[in-house]
Amino acid sequence: MGYQENIRRVVPYVPGEQPKVTGDLIKLNTNENPYPPSPKVKQAIEALPVEEMRLYPDTTAAPLVKTLAAYYGLDPAQVFVGVGSDDVLATCFLTFFAGSRPVLFPDITYSFYDVWTALYHIPYETVPLTDDFHIRSADYMRPNGGIVIANPNAPTSMAEPLSVIEEIIRNNADSIVIVDEAYIDFGGETTLPLLKKYKNLVIIRTFSKSRSFAGMRIGFAMADASLIEALNNVKFSINSYTMNCTAIAYGVATVEDEPYFREMIGKIVKTREKTGAALSELGFTCLPSAANFLFATHQTVPADEIFTRLKKHNIYVRFFKKPRIDNYLRITIGTDAQMERLVEVLKEELCNI
Ligand code: PMP
Repeated sequence: MGYQENIRRVVPYVPGEQPKVTGDLIKLNTNENPYPPSPKVKQAIEALPVEEMRLYPDTTAAPLVKTLAAYYGLDPAQVFVGVGSDDVLATCFLTFFAGSRPVLFPDITYSFYDVWTALYHIPYETVPLTDDFHIRSADYMRPNGGIVIANPNAPTSMAEPLSVIEEIIRNNADSIVIVDEAYIDFGGETTLPLLKKYKNLVIIRTFSKSRSFAGMRIGFAMADASLIEALNNVKFSINSYTMNCTAIAYGVATVEDEPYFREMIGKIVKTREKTGAALSELGFTCLPSAANFLFATHQTVPADEIFTRLKKHNIYVRFFKKPRIDNYLRITIGTDAQMERLVEVLKEELCNI
């Protein structure tokens, strides 16, 4: 007893395994980008004097905030950056969900949401997706203390049309609606144009997927200036210096390289379509993906069996032992060569079962 009683006990989020990438290991389990960040980052590395690191970084990460605001046609007062979108989302949960009504999010979605609700003692209710994994806007027309929607959703990979998301935002003017657009650069319609219309919308984005920067940890929120101010007040109540000077400088360099960004997205989308077709020939069904991963189930072979067999070949994918989705595998889109190898191994293994 004693101090034991004073310890905050939480069940943490469990990220996908990060095995050492050596030799023939193919890592398709955490939706990282298989291509390197923009080559412009190399110049930013050279331009950043090490001597400057003795100083604290800009508390508002102003160069990055300004660059993002200009890129998305917003005022800098409408942008908030953090240490990956997990940091931004956690700050949003802490800032925007301080009421007593339950926060709503789908039963199948990013599994960090219920970890934050537990950590911050936020009441919540999950809303079941339809049998074919769609979000039904009518299900969100009830009293609530906030709403969180990932669009495209994870791990389903499916995007809902903007009209469905807008209906949820429009009919919940008294709630803050967070739309987590971690995967939007790979497909689906962004809610960005809706920022002009709705003051209760918060859009979350990340550099981890489409900008090949999972290791740099950059995420951001876009919303009405009053909401961004509230986020900053909470952030400045915990840690003024969340963004280090390297992340700020490299982040700016990445956003400035639009042609490279478009080219990499194009490659991944093409590989996604090719891989989906190859998997369906092997007896898989993939949900329609608007993301940089596929969510696939096999007609006859259980997902956990395939997961284990792939691992023996040093191919890592993600398997969630959770109701409704425990016969699916989430497969990140890698390079063409990696996906060809995956298909080859699957072909071989499925013949042996
Ligand atoms: N949102 C969703 C839907 C995700 O899948 C992820 C990736 N795990 C994140 C947010 C967090 O990504 P990051 O912290 O790397 O920006």
